[in-house]
Amino acid sequence: MSSSQGYVKRALSLQKILLKYRDPLLARKLVDRIHDLSRRVDDKVVIMNFCGTHEHTITYYGIRSLMPANIELVAGPGCPVCVTPSRIIDYAIKLALDEGVIVYTYGDMYKVPGTKYSLAQAKSLGANVRVVYGFNDAVKQARSDRRESVFVGVGFETTMPTVASQIYIGNVPENLAIIPAYKLTPPILKYMLGRGDIRIDGIILPGHVSTIIGVESWLFLEGIVPSVISGFEPIDILISIYIILKQLVNHERRVINQYRRVVQFKGNVKARKIMSEVFNIVDADWRGIGLVPKSGATLADRYSNLNAEMRYHVRIDKSIDVKPGCKCADIVLGKAKPTDCPLFLKACTPERPYGPCMVSSEGTCHIWAKYGGYNEVK
Ligand code: SF4
Repeated sequence: MSSSQGYVKRALSLQKILLKYRDPLLARKLVDRIHDLSRRVDDKVVIMNFCGTHEHTITYYGIRSLMPANIELVAGPGCPVCVTPSRIIDYAIKLALDEGVIVYTYGDMYKVPGTKYSLAQAKSLGANVRVVYGFNDAVKQARSDRRESVFVGVGFETTMPTVASQIYIGNVPENLAIIPAYKLTPPILKYMLGRGDIRIDGIILPGHVSTIIGVESWLFLEGIVPSVISGFEPIDILISIYIILKQLVNHERRVINQYRRVVQFKGNVKARKIMSEVFNIVDADWRGIGLVPKSGATLADRYSNLNAEMRYHVRIDKSIDVKPGCKCADIVLGKAKPTDCPLFLKACTPERPYGPCMVSSEGTCHIWAKYGGYNEVK
């Protein structure tokens, strides 16, 4: 078989799998069952998703509009770019403008507003900012460029292994440092459940993150709230909602792995081991939320030579995370919807974002603006 025939065969088999998870008849049956169960639960049930990609599926496929009146689907803090504090952006900009350091960043971070400027605006002022697809790309460019450079290290447990593995095998050139702003998902969920002012009756847990950290990292939720690790297709989401409601009806509080085709109990053991060698867990600042205990990762002491903050002693005196009028802080906590913000689709649009939730493709405001989530508010 030629390579092109092999490619076509693989594409067709992928299409077959996808069609299974987008089957309208199966979706209809699941929606009917969700409606049946909704009559057997409390007046109101709030189910939070914890991943921008889940919010994308829910909004893109209009799943909210299919829900019974008492089932509310809310988005949580699943957009890493949205929760990265302004200080990180301000710091990268200062390095670029004052020290002439090249800044490598993901495209998602590029337009996120800092206190005064975004990285994109800083570029127009002369900062050398380059968008890369990932850390490996930054390593490659820094190696050939040889100038002082930094990589803006943001993301959840899904993006950390690539960085960790390059550091672990000693493949980072001396002229490249990392601004470590990684965030960990179980601690923020623990924090949210402990606040007492956020209603969460069920949780759709992040599938991508769980491929790395495994089912076992979520077991602290057992006995507290019905939770389902979910895949990203519409059928996955509907099954996950069904499982949560079924648990509520049966008065159960368990962690169920719906995404068994990908997520293992222990996750990616090798990646977790390398991450634990390369990173130290620290208290971390979440944009608009504040300091959350043990919810971030910085470079371990033995790799501190690669930590930009150890290499460049640049001071950021005051940074502003939440601009006047922006409700991003409440949106990432599931306490508000984009439509609760008076600036939504007026002074804040995907083309001219005012707050961080409108920038990234994983930001709730961006998703609602792009795919019409505002039409489905009950
Ligand atoms: Fe912030 Fe814009 Fe969302 Fe309003 S619409 S909460 S200003 S990102």
